[in-house]
Amino acid sequence: MRTLIGLDELRAARLSLDGVVGLVPTMGYLHEGHLSLIRRAREECKHVVVSIFVNPTQFGANEDLSKYPRDLERDLSLIEPLGVDLVWNPTPEIMYPSGYQTWVEVETMTRPLEGSMRPTHFKGVTTVVAKLFNAVHPHKAYFGQKDAQQAAVIRQMVRDLNFPLEVIVCPTVREADGLAMSSRNKYLEGADRQAATILFRALNAAKDAYEDDVRNAEKLRGIMKEVLESEPRAQIQYVSCADYDTLEELDVVKGKTLLSMAVLLGKTRLIDNFVLG
Ligand code: AMP
Repeated sequence: MRTLIGLDELRAARLSLDGVVGLVPTMGYLHEGHLSLIRRAREECKHVVVSIFVNPTQFGANEDLSKYPRDLERDLSLIEPLGVDLVWNPTPEIMYPSGYQTWVEVETMTRPLEGSMRPTHFKGVTTVVAKLFNAVHPHKAYFGQKDAQQAAVIRQMVRDLNFPLEVIVCPTVREADGLAMSSRNKYLEGADRQAATILFRALNAAKDAYEDDVRNAEKLRGIMKEVLESEPRAQIQYVSCADYDTLEELDVVKGKTLLSMAVLLGKTRLIDNFVLG
């Protein structure tokens, strides 16, 4: 496994890889969710490239960029046994040199949900992912269902800009009590950690109703809200029942559907989702 920083080094190393290359983009502070993406890439590709880059442009002005957890040594020790070829860990200056002024933006579907709370977030995500694709030229790129809107936006970008690669969305990995794994879970302390299972419980309640043939989307949103409101520590940011591909809110559930939510527990913002159908 080689760990590289510079773009020229990365390009040279990429040229030496033949056959199918899989890319797993991450912001580091790796957990089992990230590792599941890397394992899947390892199964499906001849070579695997992991990027570790805390992308400043996807953080809003009042978000946690400087406090975002980082531990490169630990990350490398977790990746090493998985049979990864290259780890690319560029600096912000390499990704965004002085004078940088080009952005990739997906329009309509980045406005609701996460976009409504974090208006500049997806412009940063799509720009950095496009740059990663241009640098690594992967045949397959692996993303987690945990960040459902991000996965949908990247699928759209890949279609719209004709990136010659396949986007593979992998299932959400959870703690034993159902909490979706996230690098930000480390901020959850004591009672907030316990309360954090409310997202999983709310999603399950709506899924149970769906399995009992409830197809009214407002009813499903209501069920999720009611469960979340039963936890006094949880502050709801949004609850959604939307089309899986377009992310438009539904009146009636038919076809593949995304139940999703964002909740504040103290200062920690958690998102989670289930896919129906
Ligand atoms: P991040 O480092 O948070 O940018 O995440 C890097 C990739 O890992 C993204 O595609 C995430 O969706 C994915 N990911 C994060 N948490 C999980 C999880 N619990 N299960 C599966 N994938 C995840």
